[in-house]
Amino acid sequence: MTGRMFLQTPGPTNIPDDILSAMHRPAEDFSTPEFIATMTAMFSELKDLFATIGEVFAYIANGHGAWEASIVNLLSPGDHVLVPETGRFSVVWRDMIKAFGITAEEIPNDWRSAIDPQQVEDALRRDTERKIKAVLIVHVETGTGSVTDLRAIRAAIDAAGHPALLVVDAIASFGCHELKMDEMGVDCVIAASQKGLMMPIGLSFTAAGPKAMEVSEKCTANREYWSWKSRMALEMYRRFCGTAPMHMVWGLMRTMEKIREEGIDNIIARHARLGEAARRAVGVWSEGGAMEFNTIDPASRSNSITCIRTLGDTDPDAIRTIAREKFNVSLGGGLADLKGKAFRIGHMGEMNEPMLLGALGGVDITLKHMGVPHGDGALNAVSKYLAETA
Ligand SMILES: *Cc1c(COP(=O)(O)O)cnc(C)c1O
Repeated sequence: MTGRMFLQTPGPTNIPDDILSAMHRPAEDFSTPEFIATMTAMFSELKDLFATIGEVFAYIANGHGAWEASIVNLLSPGDHVLVPETGRFSVVWRDMIKAFGITAEEIPNDWRSAIDPQQVEDALRRDTERKIKAVLIVHVETGTGSVTDLRAIRAAIDAAGHPALLVVDAIASFGCHELKMDEMGVDCVIAASQKGLMMPIGLSFTAAGPKAMEVSEKCTANREYWSWKSRMALEMYRRFCGTAPMHMVWGLMRTMEKIREEGIDNIIARHARLGEAARRAVGVWSEGGAMEFNTIDPASRSNSITCIRTLGDTDPDAIRTIAREKFNVSLGGGLADLKGKAFRIGHMGEMNEPMLLGALGGVDITLKHMGVPHGDGALNAVSKYLAETA
């Protein structure tokens, strides 16, 4: 095989060379004033990135670790929460919550649409005893490609006059879709390094606003490794509950520098434009009748990932295998209920026009090579759209 593999899985994502280079250095003594200053700067810059006056906690863990951290710091055994279903990830998060002796009320979903804010409002209004302590929302559901309107969810909670916390899994949206925590009234955000943040897997975050910090004080769940309180200690060693992942810290410092250089609003706009470009291709391919968008409402299709449902006897896993093995494009598969029924194109993090066109080109060649019926001119439509919107 020659040339590059185009990594279009919705996590992990492409790691820019300068971030890799920032990590390519020998280990050091973690107790030097220089490294302590770097860590101090990192936590302060993270607060800016999450747009909160609260606290940001970082863990040497994938997203599942940060999920657990959000649970044990905010919820006590016996609590009730509302977890509107979105797809695979809301279901796994909900099941994790149940393991902590917490009752999770659900709002069922067909895995083809975003959360309906009205249903959230209705569920909260029904909770006249105010038993629900938190509403847990997956922002971009990576399994289905839908994005939930967080401002509308906040408005729904307020309309019900309910005191529940708003906790958001932004693992697949952070750095891709707008998420200004304090301004948008989000109390806790969960993120991970390997998606929009363009980093290796292994660092995840919970950002806690003032209300979440207050709730965590009274939370009675047993915790130590994940504990926000013990991580708040001034001593930097405690910030990671042990030795800091120095190389990840250096990588993240470069990531945050890159984000500042491009500007977070420009990054969000870039994702919107490249996401739309990917959707243009899928729209044209769909004309052949062998596939369609998984997310039905165009307004709920995320800018991080597009999930494509195949129709009839078109095998999405065969498309993935041929795309990867023959044409050097790695795509995501259908998860859980969508297994064998869909494939997914990630377009988050380190991405520009020719990268996206290259990846979509690989898929286009795959469809032609396999004889999958598809509309013609997808790449031309993408190219035109990108030219017009530049
Ligand atoms: C990827 C992802 C997760 C899981 O993250 P891991 O790092 O694999 O543990 C959770 N939620 C969403 C929305 C995701 O995209």
